[in-house]
Amino acid sequence: MNNRKFETKAIRIQLEKTPFKEHSVPLYETSSFVYNSAEEASAVFAEEQGGYIYSRFNNPNCDELIQKLCTLEGTETGIAASSGMAAIFLSIAGVLNAGDHIIASKNLFGTTHMLLNQVLPKWGISHTYADMSDMKSVKNALLPTTRLLYVETPSNPGLEIFDLEKLGKFTGSNDLYFVVDNCFATPYLQLPLKYGADFIVHSTTKFIDGQGRTIGGAVLGSKLLMKDIITLSRITGPVMPASTGWLLSKSLETLAVRMEKHCSNALRLAEFLENNQEILWVKYPFLKSHPQYRLARKQMTLGGALVSFELKGGMKRAMKFINALQLFSISSNLGDSRSIITHPATTTHSKLSAEERKDAGITDAMVRVSVGLENVSDLMEDLERAINKSKDK
Ligand SMILES: *Cc1c(COP(=O)(O)O)cnc(C)c1O
Repeated sequence: MNNRKFETKAIRIQLEKTPFKEHSVPLYETSSFVYNSAEEASAVFAEEQGGYIYSRFNNPNCDELIQKLCTLEGTETGIAASSGMAAIFLSIAGVLNAGDHIIASKNLFGTTHMLLNQVLPKWGISHTYADMSDMKSVKNALLPTTRLLYVETPSNPGLEIFDLEKLGKFTGSNDLYFVVDNCFATPYLQLPLKYGADFIVHSTTKFIDGQGRTIGGAVLGSKLLMKDIITLSRITGPVMPASTGWLLSKSLETLAVRMEKHCSNALRLAEFLENNQEILWVKYPFLKSHPQYRLARKQMTLGGALVSFELKGGMKRAMKFINALQLFSISSNLGDSRSIITHPATTTHSKLSAEERKDAGITDAMVRVSVGLENVSDLMEDLERAINKSKDK
């Protein structure tokens, strides 16, 4: 299957059929698995023989999901987690010890900031935020105890693009684990392992689900490096339910067609906004005006589904504009077939200090749009009407 193309692998990798010869893979709701003999049980537990043991360790549906994700990202193994945050926590806690230090991008998902600021310090894991677009800032953050570099590209919600190749060379020459949150791009748009990433983390809640139904996550990497992360997950148990693995594996079958449409709709909306007199700025990786446009073209195949922008008239106007929209859902999720509008400063990134928000490029009036799969003309009409309605009379 490895020589097949993306869509074929996403559809055709599947578990062995049961004696019923089902076409679509069934849902395996079972806590444990049985053996033909005591010897067989012993061999499976000793990992001398393949087979499932207990759904806290692994489950056929989650296994199929991980097999697909590994093939699509180009790596060997992984673990399906109960949420994106559980995956991120496992990727860090699985490989670091008390006293270790992280260089983290200052442009991160809000809760990842909270994990670094509030949770990891309890176990003596410290961090320094760096501007990942400036290698001097990254080098300045390096300490003798630094063991890991953590980055998200495109970043949430600022849509900054960071140079995975440069960061990969830096982590390679300094012997650091390199963790990339590939949630916004998905393996359809970007393959961080090509540039030296050691671990990919996903919030499967977003584009991998694609319809906003489940919470889940995944950590992927080589067999050697994933060992301690898998052990931590097996012992502490933040695992994905079989039903979620089942649903997500089927969602992956349509990831390619969905991402094509998300990205073409998003580019159209970004261009439309850029030409509107009421807009102060628009950020979208595949707009020529994006500061890292060339880098985005180099490491991504399409620009993604997220667009950030700011209307003239500050925060008050932004709120009026959001309220005037009819089609866009006011929600904090993203990667849904339904278009979503978010005001990051008062929702997803509200727990950050004003200073941290400024550092992460989040202005008070900025809005983030996750462009869905509706007809793009309807979306443009809705935006235009809300822009005009929110104008001060
Ligand atoms: C949503 C998100 C997460 C966290 O995922 P959950 O599934 O909500 O726990 C992590 N990183 C990014 C970039 C996200 O958008």
